[in-house]
Order: sequence, then C-alpha cells, then structure tokens
Amino acid sequence: MKVTDHIKNAKGKTLFSFEVISPQKGKNIQELYNNIDPLMEFNPPFIDVTTSREEYVYLDKGEGLLDRKITRMRPGTVGICAALKHKYNVDTVPHVLCGGFTKEETEYLLVDCHYLGIDNVMALRGDAMKHEQYFNTTNGGHTYASELVVQIQNLNAGKYLHDVIDADDRADFCIGVAGYPEKHIEAPSLQSDLKRLKEKVDAGADYVVTQMFFDNQKYFEFVEAAKKVGIDVPIIPGIKPIAVKRHLQLLPHVFKIDLPEVLISAVEKCKDNKAVRQVGIEWCIEQSKELFDAGVPVLHYYSMGKSDNIKAVAKAIF
Ligand code: FAD
Repeated sequence: MKVTDHIKNAKGKTLFSFEVISPQKGKNIQELYNNIDPLMEFNPPFIDVTTSREEYVYLDKGEGLLDRKITRMRPGTVGICAALKHKYNVDTVPHVLCGGFTKEETEYLLVDCHYLGIDNVMALRGDAMKHEQYFNTTNGGHTYASELVVQIQNLNAGKYLHDVIDADDRADFCIGVAGYPEKHIEAPSLQSDLKRLKEKVDAGADYVVTQMFFDNQKYFEFVEAAKKVGIDVPIIPGIKPIAVKRHLQLLPHVFKIDLPEVLISAVEKCKDNKAVRQVGIEWCIEQSKELFDAGVPVLHYYSMGKSDNIKAVAKAIF
C-alpha cells in the first residue's frame, strides 16, 4: 500500500516508521532481522531501506602498487525490501539514487520493484562520491532528484525510456523525496531550497521525509514555510536519538545540522557512551512527544542499524 494511503487510513493518528541501512556486502541479513524484530510490535506500516552509491576500493598488488576497483559496498536494496516485505508483511520503501546509476539501470530497478509489489520509492540525488567534493552527474544518469521523480512518474504513465514499446502495464509508485528543515548544504538559502523542493512536488512527489533535526522548532517553521510556497503534501519528520559522544561532531559534519546547546551540554557531561545513549533516548522521547501532540502524520526514526534506543523511544510514545 502507498505511504500516502497509510497516512489517509490512519485518520490523523501518528504512525511509527523507521529507516534501516542495507547490510554490507558479505554480511548475513540475520543481523538486520535481529534489529528489526524488536520494532515490529509498534506496527510500522512501512520501513525504508537506504541505498549506497558506488565507491573505490584499493587492492594491494604488492611492490607498493595499488589496483583501483569500483564497487558497491552495500548492494541489494531492492532484494532487502522484498525480503522484509515477505518476512514481516510490511510495506518497504527502497531509496533510489541519481548518483551512481544510469537512467537505464534506474528503469530496471523500478521494473523489479513493480514486479515485486513494492508500491513506494524514495527519490534522492545522493551525495558526491567519497573522494569528490561536489556531486558530479553519473554518465547517463540524473543530476537532480526532481529529474528522477519525472522518470518515475513517466513509468507510472506507462512511458518507458526510449519509447519503442507498446506498454500495456503501468507502475503506480508513490514517491517520497527529501526535505531539509536546516537547508541542504549546497542550497544558497533555505528559501531557494524550498523552491527546489516545490519543483520535486510539482514533478509528482507525493510526500516529503525530512533530514534529521534535534530542535522541533526548525521542523515546525519548515512546515509553515513549505505551506507558504504551496507545498501541500505530507511532511514526515525524520529523527534520531544521539547514541555516542562522537555524534556531537559527526552529525553536524555529515548531515549539516545544528544541535541545541542544552543537548550538547547534557552529552558533554556524560561519563561514558552508555550515559550518552540514555540522554539521546530521553531527548528523542521529548521530541517525539511534542511532534506526536502536534499531529505529525508519521514519526520516522533513523535506526542506523541499531534498534534498542528506537524501541525505548517507541515504547514511550506508541
Ligand atoms: P536534490 O533534491 O536534487 O537537491 C540537491 C541540491 O541541489 C539542493 O541543494 C537543491 O537545493 C539543489 N537543486 C535541486 N534542483 C536544482 C536545480 N534544478 N538547479 C539548481 N539546484 C538545484 N543518500 C544516500 O546516498 N542514500 C540514501 O539512502 C539516502 N537517504 C536519504 C533519506 C532522507 C530522508 C534524506 C533527507 C536524505 C537521504 N540521503 C541519502 C542523502 C541525500 O542523498 C543527500 O542529502 C543529497 O546531497 C541530496 O539529495 P536530494 O534528493 O535532496 O537532492
């Protein structure tokens, strides 16, 4: 079922959902199941599965020589979505990227999703490759997520690439896109980023999931500003409990977000990461309560491969 239909059917009740990272190449899927199992009691209508783009690995050839190979370290997003759907009878949302994929590869992936009965996809540009400072368009791929949304909507209309076939089957994907309450790093201003978000919605995106934030005010202001520019689709808040002291540097660096002073000093006072984890859970519960009371459509948690803290938060809210 579509994410937007789950929201409609909930009739104003806030739903619980979360995002998982696909396992590293060579790792057993059981670890992923072990992390998802404890969260299923909270009845998530859908689970997101991230996608990672390709990266370079360097193989030692001896005599000081390195052989550079390109590989995808976390392959199999669509397969994992199918496995989770089958095992838990839950809707799954594969993340689909511009970076690292040609339009043809994207079409194959979407056709697979359609055959597997996957009704939702999250359309994202992806970041630059690890060794690059800026995002470069993959040869034969898309430059912006809005173009990916157009490709998915074309498929929904039965229009395939290089339209030489007589298509009598259409997809009907519900499309999610990313939104940034604290602005995407490359956007010159929050207002211009919102204009770009509106372009994604105008191209056919059905809902927005936000980048993580730790100050709810930023989300509430973002939703208001989005409404003002005419964005009228559900805006799902994505949040995450801080888990280790290093997150104080890592999260702002990777996700280009600010942390509130009160949270920073609470984490700094912690003697060890066990205490940090507890602070993170308590902060996330408070955030979740306020968002829940404000009637957000879904509380979407970034699990980052661990579920004990998300379970503690969900238990306090749902
Ligand atoms: P876009 O919407 O294309 O925007 C990228 C930048 O370009 C923005 O600054 C925007 O303002 C600007 N822009 C957009 N259109 C135009 C235009 N026409 N002209 C000029 N500028 C323009 N990354 C992964 O690799 N894998 C994942 O699974 C993943 N999941 C994510 C889930 C969520 C909920 C979020 C919020 C992010 C996720 N990301 C993921 C990260 C995301 O890929 C990066 O933040 C990426 O840098 C931007 O992606 P986007 O889809 O927002 O890009």
